[in-house]
Amino acid sequence: MRKPILLLTFFTISLFTACAKPKQNASASQAAATSSASQPVAESAPAIDPKIQKLNRVLMSMTDRCKDAIPNGDPNEFLADLEKVLQIEKAFPSDDLSLYYLIDKKHTVGADYEPKHLRKLVANDDYIINKTTLALREDADDALHEMARAAKKDGVTLDVSSTYRSYETQERTFNYWVSVDGLEEAERESARPGTSQHQLGAAVDFGNIEDSYALTDGCKWLNAHANEYGWSLSFPQGYEDITGYRWECWHFRYIGVEACRFQNKWFSGIQQFMFEFIDAWKNME
Ligand SMILES: [Zn+2]
Repeated sequence: MRKPILLLTFFTISLFTACAKPKQNASASQAAATSSASQPVAESAPAIDPKIQKLNRVLMSMTDRCKDAIPNGDPNEFLADLEKVLQIEKAFPSDDLSLYYLIDKKHTVGADYEPKHLRKLVANDDYIINKTTLALREDADDALHEMARAAKKDGVTLDVSSTYRSYETQERTFNYWVSVDGLEEAERESARPGTSQHQLGAAVDFGNIEDSYALTDGCKWLNAHANEYGWSLSFPQGYEDITGYRWECWHFRYIGVEACRFQNKWFSGIQQFMFEFIDAWKNME
């Protein structure tokens, strides 16, 4: 049996808090159980906030694994945190896709999509460029500079190996990996054109793009601090069924500091769960 799903907990808490305050130190589920056992049945059910109703509907539409990743908590606090993340999104460049854009094997962009504000990466004092053909969205590159400066203060130099890829470049990259590893293996770590975070211009592959990168000071530093600068590990270990890709310790996406906080607080640090949720939230009536 699966553990009780959060949306039930959310619903119970929201109903319960509308009736009475839980006893201190009692868990939410104990409090709710006590409440339903000891409270007389109300003649008419208390009105439930439409946003909490919507939250329940969205959560209900999420995968079981996503529901399991969301910790028990106060739905109003969740909604306040969500609101903060969505407010920040309003300040993103309005002529381009959002930094929260859900892109994966099922959610794509067209062959003609390219970021509006691309900046070519050039040699600089903050990070190393391993190629001269690199480019990022300006907002992502600004954030990369900031993060790299912080890493340098800790004695770590980040090196950037891959960044923006056009649809055509991604097509070549994918076909190359198919020729090397075969289709099945290539699908596990290379995106088909139109499905790659790299086409959004806000993802970076660091270092040697191998598992051994995890052993480097650069990767260790990123694991400890990237979120503080708005960079999120996209394909963590053990989530291939969710993200579609095996662990890629070198691949980080810029999503902003507030979204990283939201991801860590409510989605067990899994970027894919958060963006699936935000996408469902926006598409739910
Ligand atoms: Zn990558």
